[in-house]
Amino acid sequence: CGIVAYVGSQDAVPIVLEGLQRLEYRGYDSAGLAVLGRGGALKVRKAKGRVRECAEGLPARFKGPVGIGHTRWATHGEPSDANAHPHVSGTVAVVHNGVIENAEELRAKLEAQGVEFSSETDSEVLAHLIATSGAGDLAEAVRSSLTQVVGTYGIAVIDAARPGECVVARNGSPVVLGLGDREMYAASDVAALVGHTRQVVHLDDGELAVLTASGYRTFTLEATATVKQPSQLEGEA
Ligand code: GLU
Repeated sequence: CGIVAYVGSQDAVPIVLEGLQRLEYRGYDSAGLAVLGRGGALKVRKAKGRVRECAEGLPARFKGPVGIGHTRWATHGEPSDANAHPHVSGTVAVVHNGVIENAEELRAKLEAQGVEFSSETDSEVLAHLIATSGAGDLAEAVRSSLTQVVGTYGIAVIDAARPGECVVARNGSPVVLGLGDREMYAASDVAALVGHTRQVVHLDDGELAVLTASGYRTFTLEATATVKQPSQLEGEA
């Protein structure tokens, strides 16, 4: 339902939580977030219920300069803690909006390779595809995984093995980048970016972006680089 991502030098946790709260008006049944600590450790918290409840009692060490968050509107699998996003495979964490139409087929293939699933969602296949892709960098791992996927997605991916970056992608489910000063945001809705930046870049269907603290690059599912024209949001930053 809703996605927020941050890469920069601030603590991602309050930024992601605030962004998720700004997306609450869209409705949801579960919420969750994942951050990469400064040492690259992956921390995940997710639960059925409100963003505020999910945020309650987070330990002080639950912080880091890279993070992703999600509000879920369940399509595959009941609302539950296990089915809430992010979904994790090894060092990889993924949040997903949309529906993966060939999830059952991909799941069967992954299970035949010995992959164990921990949810009933269609989304979890994305985490396992990316974690097992064998690609040398995260952007390529996400891109090559998405070429196997049929369906709609707005996703954000982080990897503890490649800290300092976040990969986002869009197909039929909106993703907008927010350009900051030595920090980058992404969200499914500009409402989550308000107060942080007015400079935005809308991804097109079949397009991905790698975000780092120093900027972003965009490319297609066919691995062709794209050039985006940032636009300016109306109103106060
Ligand atoms: N299909 C996914 C699920 O049921 C994502 C739903 C959403 O867009 O929130 O978990």
